[in-house]
Formats: sequence, structure tokens, C-alpha cells
Amino acid sequence: AMLALTACGSGRDGDTDSGSGDSAKGFAANSLIGVALPAKTSENWVLAGDLFTNGLKEAGFTSDVQYAGASTTVADQQAQITAMVTKGAKVIVIGATDAAQLSTQVTAAHAAGAKVIAYDRLITGTPDVDYYVAFDNFKVGQLQGQALLDGMKAKKPTGPYNIELFAGSPDDNNATVFFNGAMDVLKPEIDKGNVVVTSGQKDFKQIAIQGWKAEGAQARMDQLLTSTYGSKELDGVLSPNDTLARAIIQSVKSRNKAVPVVTGQDSEVESVKSIVAGEQYMTINKDTRTLVAQTLTMVKALQAGNAPEVNDTKSYNNGSKVVDTYLLPPVAVTKANAAEAYANDPKLAALTK
Ligand code: BGC
Repeated sequence: AMLALTACGSGRDGDTDSGSGDSAKGFAANSLIGVALPAKTSENWVLAGDLFTNGLKEAGFTSDVQYAGASTTVADQQAQITAMVTKGAKVIVIGATDAAQLSTQVTAAHAAGAKVIAYDRLITGTPDVDYYVAFDNFKVGQLQGQALLDGMKAKKPTGPYNIELFAGSPDDNNATVFFNGAMDVLKPEIDKGNVVVTSGQKDFKQIAIQGWKAEGAQARMDQLLTSTYGSKELDGVLSPNDTLARAIIQSVKSRNKAVPVVTGQDSEVESVKSIVAGEQYMTINKDTRTLVAQTLTMVKALQAGNAPEVNDTKSYNNGSKVVDTYLLPPVAVTKANAAEAYANDPKLAALTK
């Protein structure tokens, strides 16, 4: 179906965009842009909200930035997106609480002439997602898997190494992609017997932590320690992010066990401190400032009636179509490169001094 985008007197020449066959003419420079973020399950979402509010204002747009509540996340986010459509938002940027539960809302957004950008997390099962912008999620997983191997090797030159696997929330499309990226690196070592998942729990369903909740990860680690590590040594844990990494470390410490090599993601303040102190082994730097800036670049292109730049048109099939994507490069951070990795981020750089 053709989109009925109306030019709202932006005073620009309607430049026709070559190649895409799309003849959208943009929209008024002070239009409403909606941003629907998930619950504040990690620091990156808190940062993103502030950056969107300020960045949209600076660019001259009207903004409506919302978070889903902690308990009724899916219904909250659905209602927030519907309200943005009703208010006439021209672009709706969405960090999905549940990838598969937004098709009704984004279809309504499209019918009203809005563009939809999936931010950090893909929206699945609908053709009504125009763009996806994120850090390369598969690469994040690969960096985590590699760091886990490197960290264990540095402590103990030869295997076999005993590890456990954790993944993020099943309703977040990223959780599977992170896990697949990590297994891309770990599986050959597991197949060789050099790395052993002692509990035998290797399927995504067995290791996923609903809602990315710290207490879920801590409870699962408690259980694993009891069931599997009475006398055995635990060398490493694949943790998909910092919030879960700290919960896992907490669990191990409460049993007076030696802290294993634990991976993470997000460069949260408490985890960067832990890395500098030699406890958590690694994290990933996905600078939220860069991701928000890239999203704003997309919004500005749409405002001007141009097709936003993308750099990946094959990786993200959402079950309905392959979504045009802009991927940014994630960076692996350990104690060894923390100062360098955070050099341009004053808040984190201060922790490495
Ligand atoms: C994000 C991660 C974050 C997780 C939990 C994921 O979708 O990509 O950076 O740790 O959600 O909030």
C-alpha cells in the first residue's frame, strides 16, 4: 500500500529521492516525533530518554518520549504508541518491550502516515517497520564469546573449562541474536570438549532470563551452584549484559566461590567499576550517544523527504520482511583497554583513572 504522506509546508523543495521509488515529501520541521522506550531495564534506556528529549528539542522538533512501566510493559507501550499516532506524530521511534506484540500499533501508525524506526530492538512479524538502527547485535555476542575464552585462558592456560550460559529476555529479539553470536564462537570449543557447559543447559529456552531481570539471573545462578558446582570449579559465565553479570557475580560471592570470568554488555557504571577492580571480566561499549545521534540523523532525513542512510539490507528479517538497517560497531572492553575505550566519555573515563 502507498503511504499517504502529506507535505506540511516545510518550505523545502520536494526533492525526489533517487532509487527508492519513494516520493515522500517530508514534513514540517516542528512536527511531533514520538519515542517509545521499554522499561528502564538497564542504564542505556535511561540515557536514551534524556538524549532523545534534548536532541529532538535542539533539532526543532516537538517530542513525546515515553517509557513503558515496570510491570505492565507491553500494554503500556501499546497505549503510548497509539496515543502518539492520535497526536499526529510523523515518526515513531520504538525500543520494543516485546518484539512480537506491536504489529497492530505500527500498522495504525503507517495508516496515519507516520514512519516507524525500530530503535536498538527489532519489531517482528509486521511489514510496517521502516528502519532499524542498532549496534551490531551478532557482533556483540561474538565479542562476548571471544572474551570469555580469552579471559579463561589468561587465568588457566589449558582447558577443559567449565562454563554456564545465560541469555536475555525471550521477548527481546536481541537476546537470541546475542546468544547466536556468542555460540558462533563458543560452539566449536564446546564440540571439541575444550569448553564444557557443566549443567548441560545449552538451549536458549533453558538459559533465557525473562524481562532481563537481575533477580532471575541470581536465582538461576544460585540453583546452578547448588545442583552442579558443589565440588566443581566454575571457570566462566556467558552473561548477555551488565545487569545480569552483577547478579551472577553476587550469587557466586554469596557462596564464597571464586569469581569466574563473567562477560557483560552496556558499560554500566557499576560494571565498569567492577571491571577496573578486577571482578567482572568484560563489558561492551555501545555508546548510547552515538545510537541516539544516528536515529536523529534518520529522523532529519525523513523530515527533509529523503531516504535515511542504511548500511545493512540483509541481516534483519523480521519474519515479514528484511528491514533496512543501520548498524553501529560495538567495542569489547576489559580492564586492559578501559581507559582507551572510554576516553571520549567523561563519566566512564573518570572511573578508569
Ligand atoms: C539491549 C541491551 C540491554 C538489554 C536489557 C537489549 O535489547 O540491546 O543493551 O542490556 O536490552 O535492557
